[in-house]
Amino acid sequence: MSDVVNDLSCNLLHKQFDDFVAVDKLSFEVESGSFFSILGPSGCGKTTLLRMLAGFEQASSGDIFIKNARVNDVAPNHRPLNMVFQHLALFPNMSVAENIAYGLKRRKVGRSEREQKIKRVLQRVGLDGSEHKGISQLSGGQKQRIAIARCLVLEPSVLLLDEPLGALDLKLREHMKVELKHLQQEFGTTFVYITHDQSEALVMSDKVAVMNHGRFEQVDTPQRLYANPHSSFVAKFVGNTNVVRGRIGDVGANSRAKVELGDNLSVPASNPQDLAVGSNVELFLRPEAIELTGDATASQISGVFKELLFDGANSTVIVQTSVGDLQVRLPQQKPFELAKGSVVYLSWSSEQCFCLAAENN
Ligand code: ATP
Repeated sequence: MSDVVNDLSCNLLHKQFDDFVAVDKLSFEVESGSFFSILGPSGCGKTTLLRMLAGFEQASSGDIFIKNARVNDVAPNHRPLNMVFQHLALFPNMSVAENIAYGLKRRKVGRSEREQKIKRVLQRVGLDGSEHKGISQLSGGQKQRIAIARCLVLEPSVLLLDEPLGALDLKLREHMKVELKHLQQEFGTTFVYITHDQSEALVMSDKVAVMNHGRFEQVDTPQRLYANPHSSFVAKFVGNTNVVRGRIGDVGANSRAKVELGDNLSVPASNPQDLAVGSNVELFLRPEAIELTGDATASQISGVFKELLFDGANSTVIVQTSVGDLQVRLPQQKPFELAKGSVVYLSWSSEQCFCLAAENN
């Protein structure tokens, strides 16, 4: 028996709208006190899944357990969880304290205990003393923290968060990613967070479930999703990568392969799925795994410098090659002085280049 305690688990959870399958027999567990994100493109079924967990949507079949109790037939307001919506759903005409008090009053918590809890939760979200402020007097980030405080004051086992940063501007989003992670750690509550933004999921989560067509393609730590994606979909969805179509030309020991990319070009790569000779694959090369070199003999491919993209923290060079344009991340310290149109040579180690079965598209 594992020692891991799970706050939430689902067994073959399924949702069908007429003959369209939105959530496809999902089984998974969320460890107590962890930050678990569900990451996937628009329409993959994230919201439907979250709505079933919250009780706003009835499952077609399968089970939902919270702290080992089956909750499928429990009304939303009686499930030991709470939900933060993208548009926060704060009461604009009430003060901060009244917003937080709302759920406590419904639970018949007495006045002095309410006041203590409100004071304490405001301290914990870094907004002590703001009890009497109006919601309209708060900044976007403060509103987020109040929306979370309002849920956490009820001490749910699980907090569901439905893209709560979606409506914020980029700078505040960046800031709130870190804040949300800190709040989750401070309270130790299990967070289930849905997003289509991979950078949010990677920064905040202990585990990320990458969702596609109603299924989880991989549930893993952010580091493993990035370094060892199990499918082409995950490799493309998590982090930035160059993708080149090819075919396995030869296989060797320890999951190694030669991948033919056409034009008599063949490169060594790792072949984690142990695909056979002749398989159609996609070759993945992260931009930071490629080096620009002046040495033609040590390179895997040559190309022409097309464009430099500078975004402050990083510089990326676009190189036109016989297998398409490749992005190469430059080391920060080195100034880049090549003229557009110059011939450049690209090299990478075979450990940092992997191939996976090609997606059918
Ligand atoms: P987004 O990120 O755009 O919100 P999502 O991943 O949350 O997308 P869902 O909203 O769960 O996706 O929708 C999954 C699929 O189920 C979509 O194709 C959607 O059209 C369909 N769907 C959702 N609700 C219903 C419904 N009530 N009736 C019919 N189809 C629905």
